Formats: sequence, structure tokens, C-alpha cells
Amino acid sequence: MKGAISLVSPILAAASDIPAVDRVLNLPQTQTLLTQYGRTQVTAAVRRLLDELRSQALAGTLAASAIDDSSLSSSLEQRLATASRLQLRAMFNLTGTVLHTNLGRALLPYEAVQAVISALTNPANLEFDLETGGRGDRDSLVEDVLCELTGAEAATIVNNNAAAVFLMLNALAQRKEVIVSRGELVEIGGAFRIPDIMQRAGAKLIEVGTTNRTHPADYANAISARSAMLMKVHCSNYAVSGFTSSVEVATLAELARPHGVAVTVDLGSGTLIDLTQWGLPAETTVRETIRQGADLVTFSGDKLLGGPQAGIIVGRADLIQRIKKNPLKRALRVGKLTLAALEPVLRLYLAPEFLAERLTTLRLLIRSQPQIQAQAERLLPVLQVALTGKYAVTAEAMFSQIGSGALPVDQLPSYGLVLRAWSTADGGKRHGRALDKLEKALRHLPRPVIGRIASDALWLDCRCLEEHDENLFKVQLQDLSL
Ligand SMILES: *Cc1c(COP(=O)(O)O)cnc(C)c1O
Repeated sequence: MKGAISLVSPILAAASDIPAVDRVLNLPQTQTLLTQYGRTQVTAAVRRLLDELRSQALAGTLAASAIDDSSLSSSLEQRLATASRLQLRAMFNLTGTVLHTNLGRALLPYEAVQAVISALTNPANLEFDLETGGRGDRDSLVEDVLCELTGAEAATIVNNNAAAVFLMLNALAQRKEVIVSRGELVEIGGAFRIPDIMQRAGAKLIEVGTTNRTHPADYANAISARSAMLMKVHCSNYAVSGFTSSVEVATLAELARPHGVAVTVDLGSGTLIDLTQWGLPAETTVRETIRQGADLVTFSGDKLLGGPQAGIIVGRADLIQRIKKNPLKRALRVGKLTLAALEPVLRLYLAPEFLAERLTTLRLLIRSQPQIQAQAERLLPVLQVALTGKYAVTAEAMFSQIGSGALPVDQLPSYGLVLRAWSTADGGKRHGRALDKLEKALRHLPRPVIGRIASDALWLDCRCLEEHDENLFKVQLQDLSL
């Protein structure tokens, strides 16, 4: 085949023209790759590349230009770069959901990242008491600040809030009864359903009331010598509205106290501060829940709190002590990475004046619509150029949501870019395919851009595109291949 020339096809190479592995390894261009990736990886990549080229040659499709020195070294470089890219990657979250569970929920403030670097690259007093020189307790690193922020007597930390609820039930209610309103038997996405967790923890669920209304007498009638706790669960991802009633924590506390039964509340998001001061919807804080008489409160570290994934249990010291003594605590405990990130985030709440600026989650949640609009309008011409002739781009008002089951029904006025395929004669189907293609191309950018498809359009909500990332967003649009 060598030298076969026609007007339309390129010059082809034969398998015998393909250089040996050693020759490619000795090319001057390969030397930088060797120092960067090491001989093992580079040799393996060269072998794979040459094997593929050989198959192409045998099929009669290998262009001679593909085996010149510069082509070989550039395909090698590209392969090595792609193969060594980390699987967990930074993305642009333009879905409009600020606390997106699939995209990693809360973004950590810089203070937390710094603390993680220091704690992970140096020995740290994870379980070492610097006062006595003896063994310490890892929970004590954040216990004081948690008590100060919530008014609780004690605190303990586990892997996530599902673990917190599970551990609390197992430690305090194994082989006993837990009374829950039928209106609060929630499923929080994934496999977290209150009745299932209860069963696995070895507690017996006693359902009281109805889906829409539960009264104090429903709980009172269910309390017996077998009761371990009255539990309330935050309706994180739905709302019961209309003819409804539920029982306040304070009332439950009054009912439970004479019987020595604990009142526990799974708050889910665990807000530490009144969010209405920034115009966000009202959400009961952990402190209010404790003040109303809850004996224990559980919540997540990476929802509205804005920290790392963690489950936090605060409340009565004697109950926290029992939880800590449970063998499952050891199985569910957090590592130093989590504690290093959690402490500085909690400390930000001690200076609430700066919170809106320093706590990333809050900063994103309270970005004003005019500010987001100005940003969307700056990005509009860039997208119009990148998608010219293929898609229509407009800047439009839209709604973001908080996400992660926090304040499920409230929506935040936002702004963003709406991408629509130019309408075609056969309408719907091709339109949909064109949108899918665009969605995929954005998802395959070096820093993937994730929006949401609805009403025959791809919506890119700009709320979570912080201004310091705007340039990167614009620059990589030039790489968009459609
Ligand atoms: C989110 C949530 C959970 C689960 O919390 P994770 O930290 O995701 O494990 C449990 N209960 C409620 C009410 C929630 O909202």
C-alpha cells in the first residue's frame, strides 16, 4: 500500500513503517514525558499507541503523517495527559440547585481548605490532649464551639446525618419503641427511609397520627414503659400543606418528661443562624430546637451549615455519653480531614457579621438577582458566538433552589442563559437530539458545565458561577466541539 496516491486519500503507511518502541522512547520530545510520567507509564502508553497504529495499518487506514515524530509525540502526550487526569474533578454547577447532593453539596470556604492542608501534611492533635499530654477525644476538637453555637451541653460527630440518626437510635432505643408522627416518616433520597433505618438500628417504630394531622394526644396515648423516645423528623424534601397540624417540640418535651422518655429531632439541614436576616426563608435553628426542649438534635455538616460531609449530634451530656460509648460510634467516626474542615467553618459562625461574605454556601444563596443578571448578560455574547448558527441563546430570569432537602418549597429569584436549538422542520425529535448533543458537549469540557434540560431548552443558572471563575468558563467555551 505504501505510496498509493489518489486525489482524495492521504498517503498511507504500512505496518513495517511503524517505528519500534525504543525509537519512540528515545525521541527528544519523549524526554519531558519521561520526567513527568515516569518510564513505566510512558512505555506502556507507547506500546498501546503503536499497537493501535499497527491495526490501522493492517486495515489500510493509517495515514503516513500519523507516524512522523511530531504526530507520535503529540498523540503520546495527549494520551498520557488524559489517562492521568483525576476521576474526581471540579465542575461548573449551573443546575440552579446550590446544595446539589450529586455535585458534592456545600463548597468549603478557603479557611477550611487551609486547615485541611495543615492537618493532613503534619502530625496533629487528633486524639492527643495538649493540656495533659495524655490521650484525647477527637470530638472535643469541635465540641465547645458546637455547644456555644447551639446552646447544647455536649456534641459528637459521625460520618453523615444518616449515620447520626442510626447511631442515636441504636444507642438509645435498641429493643425499645420510638414514636413518630405519620406525617414525618420521610425518605431522603438514596436509601435513607426512617422506617428502614429504625429497623436496622433495632428500634421499634410506633407510628402515630395521620399524614396531615398529628395531635399531642396521639403521642400521649402511645407512650408506655417500652418507649425510648419521641422523635421528630424534618420534612426536608416535601411540604404538608392545607388542613394540617403537627406537635411542637416544646409540647413533646412536656409530654415526655414525666415518663423519662427522650425527645429527639432530626433537623436534616441544621441551620445554625436565623437566615431571614439575609432574606432567605425561615428555618428553625438548632439552638431554637434545643431551647424548646429537644434532648438531642441531629443534622448534616454539608447542607445549609456549609461545611464538610458529617453528621452532628448535639444535646444532653448524659445521652451524648451513651452514644459515644456505643461500639458503632467507632465504626461511624470521622477522620481528621473532616474535623480539620469542620472546625473553621463552625468558627465562621462566631463572627456572623462576616458570614455572608466568608461562608461560600451562604454567599451563593444570597447573591442578588440583579448581580446574577449582570453576569448572565456579560456571558451572553460569548455563548452566542460559541453556538452561532446552531443554538439560540438568551439571558432570562429563572429560579434557583437551595437543594439537599433544605427549605424544599422556596425558590430563589435568579438569572441565567437559556439555550434552544433552532427550530427545524420536523420539530420536536431533532430539537431534543440537538439539545442532548449540546448538553453532552458541555459535560465533556475540561471543566464540565452542568445545566438542566426543561421545556425544550438547556438552562444554565448563573447563581453558582462565582465571578472569579467567570474567565475560565468563557475561555473553555472556545473548546466546545459540536
Ligand atoms: C439530609 C437528611 C438526612 C441525611 O443526611 P446525610 O448527611 O445526607 O446523611 C437525614 N434526615 C433528614 C431530615 C435530612 O434532611
